[in-house]
Amino acid sequence: MHSKSPKNVVVVGGGIAGALVAKHLQNHAHVTLIDPKEYFEIIWASMRSMVDQSFAERSTVDYSEFLPQVKLITSYAANITESEVLTAKGDRVPYDYLVIATGHVYSDPITRTEGLIKYQEAFDKIKSSSSILIIGGGPSGVELAGEIVNEFPDKKITLVHRGPRLLQFIGSKASQKGLEWLTSKKVEVILNQSVNLTPTLEGVYQTSGGETIVADHYINCTGIQSGSSWLKDTIVMNNLDMHGKLIVDKHLRVDGHRNIFAIGDITNLPELKQGYLAMRHADLTAKNMKLLLVGGTEEKMAVYKPGRSIAFVSLGKKDAVAEINGFTMSGCFPGLIKSGDLFVGKTRKTYGLQS
Ligand SMILES: Cc1cc2nc3c(=O)[nH]c(=O)nc-3n(C[C@H](O)[C@H](O)[C@H](O)COP(=O)(O)OP(=O)(O)OC[C@H]3O[C@@H](n4cnc5c(N)ncnc54)[C@H](O)[C@@H]3O)c2cc1C
Repeated sequence: MHSKSPKNVVVVGGGIAGALVAKHLQNHAHVTLIDPKEYFEIIWASMRSMVDQSFAERSTVDYSEFLPQVKLITSYAANITESEVLTAKGDRVPYDYLVIATGHVYSDPITRTEGLIKYQEAFDKIKSSSSILIIGGGPSGVELAGEIVNEFPDKKITLVHRGPRLLQFIGSKASQKGLEWLTSKKVEVILNQSVNLTPTLEGVYQTSGGETIVADHYINCTGIQSGSSWLKDTIVMNNLDMHGKLIVDKHLRVDGHRNIFAIGDITNLPELKQGYLAMRHADLTAKNMKLLLVGGTEEKMAVYKPGRSIAFVSLGKKDAVAEINGFTMSGCFPGLIKSGDLFVGKTRKTYGLQS
């Protein structure tokens, strides 16, 4: 008697969620991972990677290192039919089960080597500048300001944010703590203004409020691009909500599609968009898919309960501001939890890598 041939699982997006689900399933099905990069990156360490090359080394890993059984396709996915994923390169990849995990699009290089060169160049630029303008007061802008001021306390740093407060994804108390920390380190923070990035003279920038900022170098930390635009003409287009998030059921399947799952920041789940939750989505989805792959019934599938609201924003290597279920703390205690290693060692272990 012939055993049934293994099913095809296609994972689109090899970020925090997609890479983990591919790892869990690689010995249970024919798994294909589609991503425009050849490597995985612990993306929240990228601000530290700009000032400390050892973090760039540890937070980037070739997929082939921990996904030896997975077929890798280095391309953007461009469309989905009932049975195939089409890539921008022209591949047609058949699936029995599909996982959509394209939280964000990064303008990153394709290979890890190119990625490391990019970080080295960013470091050189920061090091050689005596004044730096950071645009954007979300977690990226605030964490980057913290990293630069920690590594190079003598540089003049100006952070301009369009909104009324920093860190608008969490509460105003946390915003205030972040602002106080930055100003105590002599970072100039300008709120409620934008910057014209075409300099009037070399290194001279105008804000929307008429202020002049002189900077040798600027770094734009305004919103990373969402990874849902490619879905707008696919069979799941009607499952996108008004914010471009995929509407999922209690098993993290795209509503109305029994063999299509969505995990990570692309989902419309009522919870903060955080990597530790994206990992929980991946764990639960892998468990449910393993059940389905051996012919288990849908009634036995695990149900996802949206996670508690926990956010840590690092402020240099020692301090942080954290919001846990509405409770705010700042300083070295939350810093002890996140800021020394930025969860890089812990995350590497989760993906089966030495810390
Ligand atoms: C500054 C900062 C600090 C953070 N700190 C923390 C923290 O301390 N703890 C925490 O838990 N979370 C943190 N986060 C949040 C965390 O980074 C995200 O929640 C997490 O990365 C989401 O994972 P994901 O897999 O859904 O998406 P992503 O990590 O964004 O991965 C998406 C993947 O999809 C790929 N992709 C996109 N489009 C396509 C396409 N068309 N075809 C194929 N592939 C595609 C991309 O190349 C990428 O590899 C932080 C975020 C920021 C910005």
